[in-house]
Amino acid sequence: MTVPPAEDGGPLEDDFLAEVKAVARHPGGVCGVARILALLDGDPLQWKVQQALDDPVYVGIAIARVLTTRGYPVSDYTVNRHRGLKCACARRPT
Ligand SMILES: [Zn+2]
Repeated sequence: MTVPPAEDGGPLEDDFLAEVKAVARHPGGVCGVARILALLDGDPLQWKVQQALDDPVYVGIAIARVLTTRGYPVSDYTVNRHRGLKCACARRPT
């Protein structure tokens, strides 16, 4: 399994802390897609993922599969809920 890069390239413990920090940016609770986007903060892949999410040409199951193989496990159900604004992100006040 591929481990997502940590902010400081440290061992697994640092990945955990980076993820907690990413989640903390959205205290109202976010879905798996938003968590991945937060983890990709500063990574060129972030806007590519966002681009795919915004374009219906890219089907949810394909986005989910590619993200998962790249080490960001997510289900097509989660991707489709995020796209349809039916996830925790849509419910949190902006
Ligand atoms: Zn979401």
